[in-house]
Amino acid sequence: MTVIRKGDRVAIISGKDLGVQGRVLEVVRKKGRILVEGVNQVTRHEKVRMGRRGNQEGGITHKEAPVDISNVALVCPNDGPTRAGFRVEDATGAKIRVCRKCGTEL
Ligand SMILES: [Zn+2]
Repeated sequence: MTVIRKGDRVAIISGKDLGVQGRVLEVVRKKGRILVEGVNQVTRHEKVRMGRRGNQEGGITHKEAPVDISNVALVCPNDGPTRAGFRVEDATGAKIRVCRKCGTEL
């Protein structure tokens, strides 16, 4: 099961955007896919139209497409892309997400 949440900083660990880091915009848990800022950008050609305030909308736009959740890893400030695990706080029983390598809270 993934531990990645919206707003996390992640790195791409396979595919054409290998090594690219970005913030998680959306997690589509059911489909096992994730939307990462600036990753897997696709170009869309939309019809140019007039917006409500008279500004132009459409034309060529860039938009992120979701990537498979298995292709991303959480980024640890010490180690870079890493595997994350959980530590249970003795006092409170709270689950804390940590880096498996150095134990830093993520
Ligand atoms: Zn670490």
